[in-house]
Amino acid sequence: MKSENTMIAAPKAGLLERLDQGPVICAEGYLFELERRGYLQAGAFVPEVVLEHPEAVTHLHEDFVHAGSDVVEAFTYYAHREKLRVIGRETILEDLNRQALRLAKEVADRHGCLLAGNICNTNVYEAQEPATHATVRAMFEEQIGWAVEEGAELLIAETIDWSGEAEIALDVMRQTGLPIVVTLSVHRSERTFDDIAVVEACKRLEAAGADVVGLNCQRGPETLLPVVRAIRDAVSCHVAALPVPYRTTEAEPTFQSLTDPRCGCIPGDRPFPTALDPFTCNRYECAEFARRCQELDVRYIGLCCGAAPHHIRAVAEALGRTVPASRYSPDMSKHAFFGSDAAIPEAYKGRRTEI
Ligand SMILES: [Zn+2]
Repeated sequence: MKSENTMIAAPKAGLLERLDQGPVICAEGYLFELERRGYLQAGAFVPEVVLEHPEAVTHLHEDFVHAGSDVVEAFTYYAHREKLRVIGRETILEDLNRQALRLAKEVADRHGCLLAGNICNTNVYEAQEPATHATVRAMFEEQIGWAVEEGAELLIAETIDWSGEAEIALDVMRQTGLPIVVTLSVHRSERTFDDIAVVEACKRLEAAGADVVGLNCQRGPETLLPVVRAIRDAVSCHVAALPVPYRTTEAEPTFQSLTDPRCGCIPGDRPFPTALDPFTCNRYECAEFARRCQELDVRYIGLCCGAAPHHIRAVAEALGRTVPASRYSPDMSKHAFFGSDAAIPEAYKGRRTEI
């Protein structure tokens, strides 16, 4: 008789295999969520929490997987040499990266999710200054090296503002042979900082070997999706869309550009990044975003800064899934006043217009 531990588990499907079958959900936005939870400082936005409160990071990974994320991204966003230099803590660079990868791997392994290594905007790159290109390459190489050693199953370069910087990231990642996702930032203009239309930049990334190209961060669903549609039309590889879950508008297309005339007590009068609450998309808007992605055949779907687990659950359910958190999805039928259930006293149902 075979004991359980002699049975060989079916091999886990990789990113490209999953994308060929349908949508893949990737929850991002750890910085904002851990800031709200009190474990990370807004401003510098460096994920020291990975070393100082690893349990908080694990908990958030678990929460997002519970809500339907297929990818567990190592929390190495802004865990690079430049950001650590800014806060005077370069010595923790390798420990922070390896620990972030290990925390994510533990959760990914527990639930059959994919472990993603992550690199991001360096805030060093300047197109006209070749010396910065070498600096950036070295920063990516060290982080990607650790990601591979710690078992990453795919690599993500995200929130990249420059076409040239994205190309360096891609080149470094390609040396590994792992599946690659590159998502650019689109700010108020639909051109990269090196003045290339983002659609064109995505075409170049596809031509240079990226498996998935698209956009993350900065814009909410309303102002991100039109650009994503143009990218979908221009490339033949898989496309990624990970907006911030905020109600951005044509006049204020990014979450940094939002203004709040109804509030007079925001320091500096700019809602970004700590007073964006009133602009937050509700779960139904996130579900709508996911359905629109599906209509466009955009399959790598997620949310960035501002995302919380209830948003991700709404995305997953909109894609037709039942996830562990669906056990607690809303059912108003038993509500004391608004419920339709026969067990609710009629007298209380009658009070619904009073509350
Ligand atoms: Zn973001």
